[in-house]
Amino acid sequence: MPKISFRKTPTIPNYYSNQQIDISKWYSSTWQLQNSLKKKEHFEIFFSLSEAEKNIFTSPKKVFNIRTTPYYASLAKDTGEDAIRKILMPSPKELSSDYQEMLDPLGEKVNQKTSRLIHRYSDRVLFLVTDFCSVYCRYCTRKHFTGQEQSLIKDTEFIEAVSYIKSHPGIREVILSGGDPLTLSNSQLEKILFELRSIEHVEIIRIGSRMPVVCPQRVDQELVSILRKFKPVFLMTHFNHPDELTEFAAEKLELFVDHGIPVFNQMVLLNGVNNHESIVQALSRRLLYLRVKPYYMFQCDPSIGTDHLRTSLKNSQEIQRKLWGHLSGLAMPQLSLDIPDGGGKAYYVPSFEIQRVGSSIFYEGWDGIRGEYVNPDQQSMVNPLLNPIYLEEWDELKTSKN
Ligand code: SF4
Repeated sequence: MPKISFRKTPTIPNYYSNQQIDISKWYSSTWQLQNSLKKKEHFEIFFSLSEAEKNIFTSPKKVFNIRTTPYYASLAKDTGEDAIRKILMPSPKELSSDYQEMLDPLGEKVNQKTSRLIHRYSDRVLFLVTDFCSVYCRYCTRKHFTGQEQSLIKDTEFIEAVSYIKSHPGIREVILSGGDPLTLSNSQLEKILFELRSIEHVEIIRIGSRMPVVCPQRVDQELVSILRKFKPVFLMTHFNHPDELTEFAAEKLELFVDHGIPVFNQMVLLNGVNNHESIVQALSRRLLYLRVKPYYMFQCDPSIGTDHLRTSLKNSQEIQRKLWGHLSGLAMPQLSLDIPDGGGKAYYVPSFEIQRVGSSIFYEGWDGIRGEYVNPDQQSMVNPLLNPIYLEEWDELKTSKN
């Protein structure tokens, strides 16, 4: 049997068991959402707050909304150094900026086509189905929308978004995001998936969610059966640290995969949280073992209040370089940065090229082994046999935003 192990799931905290809270409530996502920590007094159940942390809750300068599930809080240790505490606890450092802070670092507003739809890349759209999350991660990139807890998507907004997708046949993929789409009820989700699946040109539906991390209670047989019904549906989840990957969460990830729902993970490199190669490998190998593909390792966006959480690009690249050659390609997440103001993604990979001489390219690999690659002549490149169907598809894809 493989030796790989997952974090033991913490038991119900004393505060709740002393209140005779039934264990079945602890394992209910509805109870977790209804009993989320929002106020200073709630956080004091789990943490000893510094004076500066206490003041954040009453600061006249508003910080990003504050909320966490009791389950996620129970994963954090009460030390300022703890990774999960840093992700969920508002920091006084959010109130100032040394480098860069933007309300909309991805430039989403420029590409907003309806009140809930962002069309940045030609073949896919981002559909913001809710602005609510069960945990407001302090590094969130979509602070211009997320966390306002205004309301569910209105019928008019839903119809407007679906009409836009219907009228753009080049759109092949719809990414449900927000907010966290899995905070919606099963019936709300089913309605959205039903509408999208009835659009002929929508091939792939993606759902981005932190619920498997912060409230695995949400994942059950009924949910995975709904997702399976509207296949192909891909789940993009968002574990940042192996301490988040409890045995309970691992079980829920397997439930998705066992029901034919491919799962990918997007992590964000965060200063003082997970910016070390040992942490990235630990998370990635565990995810891969569960058949979850570690997909992206994002550079944290310069969203308001995140300066203290951002790693330098050099730091991130060093981590990637150290992992190279030691971590299976299957387990290696792609280091990527979103170009501010909506420029799209910039990918980073280590360069092993050392010299070009004529048609020869010389390399030195990750462990110092050198080799020469003789590059075929550019003039000898010929087109393959082109199929008009593929060409037409390609044209439709490229022009879908017009
Ligand atoms: S779950 Fe996602 S959208 Fe919600 S606060 Fe965290 S990073 Fe932002």
